[in-house]
Formats: sequence, structure tokens, C-alpha cells
Amino acid sequence: MRPDNTLCLCIAGTDTDAGKTVVTAALARAAMAAGLRTLVIKPVQTGSVPDAQNKPQAPDLAVCREAAPGADTRALFLFAAACSPHLAARIEDRPLAARELAEEVTRTVREWIAPGPCRNLVLLEGAGGLLTPISESETLGDLFALLNWPVLLVAANRLGAVNHALLSLEALRSRDLACPGFIMAEGQEARSELERTIRRDNPLIIAGLGKKPCLAELPYMPGLNAPCSSERQTAWDQAARSLAPVLEALEWRGGAPIQPDNFDNADLLRFDREHLWHPYTSALRPLRVWEATGSHGSRIRLRDGRELIDGMASWWCAIHGYRHPALMRALQTQAETLPHVMFGGLTHAPAVRLGQRLLDMVPATLEHVFFADSGSVAVEAALKMALQYWQATGDTRRTRILTVRGGYHGDTLGAMSVCDPENGMHALFSGILPRQIFAPRPECRFDAPYDPASERAFAEVLAAHADSVAAVILEPIVQGAGGMWFYHPDFLRAVHGLCKQHGCLLILDEIATGFGRTGRLFACEHAEVEPDILCLGKGLSGGVLTLAATLATREVAEGISRDGGVFMHGPTFMANPLACAVAEASLELIAGGTWQADVARLETGLRQGLAPCARQPDVADVRVLGAIGVVEMRRAVNMERLQSFFVDQGVWIRPFGKLIYLMPPYVATDDDIAALCTAVYRALDQGMWR
Ligand code: PMP
Repeated sequence: MRPDNTLCLCIAGTDTDAGKTVVTAALARAAMAAGLRTLVIKPVQTGSVPDAQNKPQAPDLAVCREAAPGADTRALFLFAAACSPHLAARIEDRPLAARELAEEVTRTVREWIAPGPCRNLVLLEGAGGLLTPISESETLGDLFALLNWPVLLVAANRLGAVNHALLSLEALRSRDLACPGFIMAEGQEARSELERTIRRDNPLIIAGLGKKPCLAELPYMPGLNAPCSSERQTAWDQAARSLAPVLEALEWRGGAPIQPDNFDNADLLRFDREHLWHPYTSALRPLRVWEATGSHGSRIRLRDGRELIDGMASWWCAIHGYRHPALMRALQTQAETLPHVMFGGLTHAPAVRLGQRLLDMVPATLEHVFFADSGSVAVEAALKMALQYWQATGDTRRTRILTVRGGYHGDTLGAMSVCDPENGMHALFSGILPRQIFAPRPECRFDAPYDPASERAFAEVLAAHADSVAAVILEPIVQGAGGMWFYHPDFLRAVHGLCKQHGCLLILDEIATGFGRTGRLFACEHAEVEPDILCLGKGLSGGVLTLAATLATREVAEGISRDGGVFMHGPTFMANPLACAVAEASLELIAGGTWQADVARLETGLRQGLAPCARQPDVADVRVLGAIGVVEMRRAVNMERLQSFFVDQGVWIRPFGKLIYLMPPYVATDDDIAALCTAVYRALDQGMWR
């Protein structure tokens, strides 16, 4: 492992002769002056020169040794021809490979690192630019990607710098490489006023368009080439002073471990890109992904060692944060005895205990539990329960489901049929899915006085189809993935009354809202409504394993079971013991009750933190309920750009459609919430959402 007292940095030029060597040497001098142990590595030196013993020497490192006499220097592969590494290597018939280079660099660093209190700085000076070939199939950027160290970019401050610098930043982004910023270096004296104007403007426009800070500017210093050594030392002092702020700007956090698995990162991301399907993406043009290597509490760790504050609770399920000790303990204990067994014909204590806990929490009328393996399947089970109920009890005309627009219930075919038919993700399937009945979205806001007119349309639609409606399905209070909309409890109360009036069942989908997210244990409590069928998922197993449940009243269960009837569903992993054991631990935490204070605290933090967003002109609405904070834009956001921006800001937020929203784990601290909200505000303020 690379110890925490070591920082490794690659230094890349935007081009040949950009000023990398001078910058590396001056940084080494500044580092030595700041008391850092410093190693400068030149992985490939072309144009090497023989010394008195005819041994090849690296001219770039000679510059370094003059600037920072106390720094260690190592050149790994030297070639005589002064040209691109791939060509110089071919001329000498000694081909280079990125992996071999990376391994050599790693070995060198491992051997050099000193344990103890001193800080170690490793500067790896590239060759040419990021796309300089090191072999017929690899570039310097590929070497950097294998090392996965942050890359400092050096741009020659001259005409053409902007294009070169922006292309280099794009090359870094496409390789998922962290870049703390760039340095502008002047290699020659400016000869005209226009040239001076260009040099003043270059860092500004690169920082603006490239979204990276200019960390320092190195002015042209003829003294570096003066014949007199003391004059050169004075110039190096000046250069080191100019670059000292760069060292201060670097985040000293140890970074990713230097070990062989690091090298698999580029291969891993390539395989992922070429073969793995991610949610709602093209297989051929996938969106960018980051490799997560660990998690704890409210943090997700990335391969490069950065830890992101999680604003999503992994699509709302990791309510207690990651790797909560109680959940991990339950998982490990269960794994030692019974990780899985079929639920047909067998039962086990984790399922029974979880069932008991669930029934203690939910409205008392719900008495029967069906364990499903995902939220969508829990919804499928709920729809099938409702349909089977009416088939079994003789009212065979009741074959349709009524819902409101703006809903989301999952991605399987039945669940899709009750998602919003237009804004949902499933418009593609509209001719193929069962045709359900839709009433308008409830427009009455949660936080505004209730207008009974908002239930009229629903009442009319239900009345028009009353004979054929088996069940109404709704997400209570919060419509989640369909638009993050919070509607008034009185609407839910009215729907409940209308269901009773017309004799149809009410299914509440609390997969997203259950277990405290809205400030009540279940969102239906806001309206004091008890459903006939209830779907639970996500937070049920605290984000550790996939588990969901569909609960039904005795009346529904008895109806289905009439005349020897059975409920026709039975997934392979039904009531998986590992998942049940973890869910039991998750519910024990919920029963402990600290979630209430946490969610209230998160609500206050989100309200305060997101309030300034409302003043941004492109924001249509800001709303907060429980541990859910939503910023709705006037038009769709650029998800890919925003997500990269958020990662650069140290937070994990995945927007969709017009919505930038936060659903953090309940264990998020006040500082976490403030950081998440600040990142959202910055994204709006800097126009990063477009
Ligand atoms: N219902 C609701 C309300 C949901 O929010 C979701 C997931 N976002 C689902 C159902 C589907 O759950 P899953 O992704 O576990 O299939």
C-alpha cells in the first residue's frame, strides 16, 4: 500500500516543449524547501546522452538535479533517439508496454518510500503530451490511467494553448483521471502587446472552458539558462516560489494504493464499457462510470482514493449508511449457517422473525407477507394479488388497474403498465403493455392548503370505470422516480374513500417512502390511510441485499385462497435468509427510533441548504419533505456533465430529467448535507446543469 504520507503526481504537458521539465524541477525545489522527501521519476527518456563512462543519462533529470539537488531522481527506460517513445523504442528494438512501465514505476516508488513521519512526494514527468505514443497501441495517457495518479497539466502559455489544454483535459476526463488543475508556463519572452494579451487571457479561458483551476503561472525566466550557476540558482528560487501555491493546492490524502490491482482499473473500465449494461443506458454508447472500491457510513470510495459524500443512499435503499456494523454482523452470522434455501416446503427463523417485525410495524389490518426479491417484483405480486382476488371472489370483470399520472412502480412489464405513460421511461412499450387506466397527477402540493377540486378528476375516472377496476395503485404522498412530486395527504384520503365507495382494492407502493424517508414510518400515516395491499422494499434490507415484500389484509388473502386457491408466484430467491437476516437488523435499527430525529435533522439541513437554489432563474421549484430534497429545473439537465461535476466536488448525486434531488442516508451529518447542498447550488450557479 502507498502510505498516507505519500503523494504521487503525474506531470503531463499539453504538447512537446510545454515546459514540463522546468515545472517538474521547480516543483521539486519547492517541495524540498517545504521539507518534503522528493522523488522525480522519468519513466521514459528519449534523446538520452552518454556520460563519461558511456552510460546513457536523462537530460531532463539533470535539470532537476540542478534545481533540487536534494531530490532523488530515477530514469527508468532511456533511448538515444530524440523522438516519440514508441519510435525511439522501435529503433533500438526494445518495445515499451504501459503495464511494464507502470510496474517498474510502482516498484521504484515502493523501494523509495520511507516510512515514518516525513511526507514523500513523487513527481512522474511524462514525455510529450498525453496522447504521445509509447507503443503501437498505447499512449502516455494509458500509462497514467494504469497508475491512476492525479495528473497536473502543464500548458505552454502561447498562441494555441487553449486548444491543446482543453483537448488534454478531455483526454484526462475520458480516462477517469483526477486533475487538480493546470500550470501555465512561458517558454519565451512575449514579443508584442498582443502576445501579452493572449498570455493573460489563456489561463482564464482554459479555466472557464476546462472547468479546472489554473494553479500557478510560471513567467519566462532567462536566468534559468544563464551561464553563471549562482544566477541560475536565483532563477530557480524564483521559479520555485511561483509554484509553491501548487503544493498547497494539492490534497494530501494518500490516494489509491499502489498495488497490482490498480493496474486492472483501465482494463476493468474497458471491459465494463464494452460488455456490461448499466441502468437505462446504451450498450454501445454507455455513460461514464466510476469504479467504487469501498463504502462506509455516508461515503463511497472511488478507485483513486477519493471519498464521495453520498446524496442518493444508493437509489434510496442504504438508509442506515454503508456497512453499518449491525447489518454486517447479521449478514456474517447468517452466512455461517444458512445463506440460502428454497422457500417452497421449507421455512427458517430469519423469514419468520422478519415477518413478525414487519407486522408489528405496518397498519394492523395487514396480516400476510409475501417476500419478493426486488421492488418491481413486489409490485408484480401486488397486482397479481388484486387480480387473483377478484377472479377468485367471482367479480371477473375487475381486470384493470387505475393509477395517477406521474407515478413509478418498477421496470417489469406489469409494473411498467402503471408507471406514467409519457414522462416515464416506458413509453416505448405503450402498445405492448396491459392498458391500465390513468387519472391526472394530483396537483395539490403537500405544503399548500388542500383544494378538494384536485380529487374531482380522479373521482370521475374511477366512477367511469368502477366495474372494471380491480385496484388503485399509488405511491403515497411522494411520487418518486416519476417526478419527485409531493402531494397533499387529503388527496390520498380521498382516494381511499373512493376505493371503498366503489369496492376496489387500494395498493400502496411504499418501496421508496417506507421506513421513515418522509418523516413518518410509512408515508400513508400522513393521511391515516390503511391499504389493502402494501409494497415495501429498498430500505427494508438497509441497502445490503435485494429484498422486498408485499403485504395483504386477511380479506385479500382469504379471497385468493377461497376454494383451495393459491397465490401464483414463487421466486427462486424468495425469503433469502441472508437478506431476511439483514432486513431484521435493519428493522431493529428502525424500531430503535433514532431515524425520527435524524430525518427531522436532515429535513432542516436540506431546507436551509437548498433554499438559495430557488433564486436561480432556471429553477422551477425547490421542495423538501423528510429526508428528500428536490430542485426542479425548467428543462432537462445534462446528467452526464452534472454527474462529473458532482464527483469533482466530492459528492455523489445522480440527477434525472429536470430533477436534481438528494435522498441521503439517515446517518449523513449536518456537514454532509451542507456539502451536498453547496454542490447543487454551485452546479446551478456555474451553469453545469446545461
Ligand atoms: N416502486 C417504487 C415506488 C420505486 O421507487 C421503485 C424503485 N425506484 C420500485 C417500485 C422498483 O423497485 P426495484 O428497483 O427494486 O425493482
